[in-house]
Amino acid sequence: MNEAVLHAEVLVLGGGPGGYSAAFRAADLGKQVVLIERYPVLGGVCLNVGCIPSKALLHTAQIIHEVDEFEQHGINYGKPALDIDKIRAWKESITKTLNEGLAGLVKQRNVNLIQGTGKFTSPDTVAVETESGIKTIRFDQAIIAAGSHPTKIPIFPHDDPRLLDSTDALELKEIPEKLLIVGGGIIGLEMATVYHAFGSEISVVELMDQIIPGCDKDLVTPLFRRIKKQYKNIWLETRVTSIESHDEGLKVFFDGKGTPESEMFDAVLVAVGRRPNGKLIGADQAGINVDEQGFIAVDKQQRTNIEHIFAIGDIVGNPMLAHKAVHEGKVAAEVVAGLKAGFDALTIPSVAYTDPEVTWMGLTENHAKQQGIEYDKAVFPWAASGRSLCFGRKEGLTKILCEKETGRLLGAGMVGPNAGELIAEAVLALEMGADAEDIGLSIHPHPMLSETFGFAAEMITGTITDLYIKK
Ligand code: NAD
Repeated sequence: MNEAVLHAEVLVLGGGPGGYSAAFRAADLGKQVVLIERYPVLGGVCLNVGCIPSKALLHTAQIIHEVDEFEQHGINYGKPALDIDKIRAWKESITKTLNEGLAGLVKQRNVNLIQGTGKFTSPDTVAVETESGIKTIRFDQAIIAAGSHPTKIPIFPHDDPRLLDSTDALELKEIPEKLLIVGGGIIGLEMATVYHAFGSEISVVELMDQIIPGCDKDLVTPLFRRIKKQYKNIWLETRVTSIESHDEGLKVFFDGKGTPESEMFDAVLVAVGRRPNGKLIGADQAGINVDEQGFIAVDKQQRTNIEHIFAIGDIVGNPMLAHKAVHEGKVAAEVVAGLKAGFDALTIPSVAYTDPEVTWMGLTENHAKQQGIEYDKAVFPWAASGRSLCFGRKEGLTKILCEKETGRLLGAGMVGPNAGELIAEAVLALEMGADAEDIGLSIHPHPMLSETFGFAAEMITGTITDLYIKK
């Protein structure tokens, strides 16, 4: 039944990091905001079934590995006893704390939060299916932040609970003895890290010729070498052709180099990317263009083809990362409020929270080669970083690419324990137009991993003393 029509100066569809940031920024700029979220809590995939719970479990995995590896350096706690129920409860408590924080921010800003699934019914209205019936909201301007969902492979069985997506895997219902991970991207490898630490025998199957295909190979190699020893199999250039459900497990068939024809697994996690939700929001009713895949095209101000409707986050394109969505959400809110804003970030950093972590930003070497861009390159080995050796680890690398003529930073990447923390400095340096000299002359605290970024810059300027480089 149609109830009273509500009015919103700004309607935000979707309460993930991009959506709630857009709603809060618009409210702070004096707009009256209605935020629609289908789940009872805010935070979307990232906070509830993505970034945050996975990082909680990855921290647990890190402790397990560190303790195990420090046996050779004089610390022996014995084999860890894992209480999976307690680990799960701890993970959920973190999510809950952040959910409650967001609920508080909604109240403080007087944002009208409506729980339900919203769909456009015209260029000016959204109908929200709530527990108490349909609510219609008429809006002046709207920001779509409706996110994405995991890609399913149609030929795989759909009703077998042993076939997992990332949401299922984070629930930690069971720790399978033999786990196959389809997709050697970020989600697949992060979940592999967790389940390996919790005792599963891991196999990974990846379509391309390297894991994390978007990243330069030299940055991925230290991770690959380490997990190759830890995991049972890493099959590259391999396709899963079918999966059969049997009582004793999932029988998986492969087509690739050096793979068995088939093998039985207790569970299979499919992590082969995510699809935008553009086709699920009634966009056609509002006249919004949605492409074949479900993406909505926007301009630099996050505006769709409909003048007063904006879109942000996963639904507007790759990379599907929370920090990109948040930035875009703020741009959209500012434009909606009449400010002169636009998305003009020079780079969006990527981090795989594997062990070691892999991170990169700006120009990659792969892209530089494809585009014929000339560059100077330096790679500082963490084997020469005292701090890294104190962690018991020496496989890390810090790489920087600088413009040949000017020395200006073009791109950077790191691999190693906690490497993800180092990329923010590189992003700032790129945004500020810093060159290798600026970076090398900035005093980095000793002994920290961040020094390796300064050292890499000194390798470019020829001033490094921590390594000997033959002229
Ligand atoms: P992804 O695109 O990062 O990786 C998917 C991998 O699966 C790719 O390596 C691809 O080559 C491979 N693949 C595709 N089809 C395959 C097939 N049939 N068989 C075997 N391999 C196949 O996607 P994801 O890991 O699922 O992550 C989804 C999105 O979520 C990405 O945009 C990612 O950036 C984002 N995410 C980011 C983080 C982070 O920033 N730490 C963490 C999780 C997810």
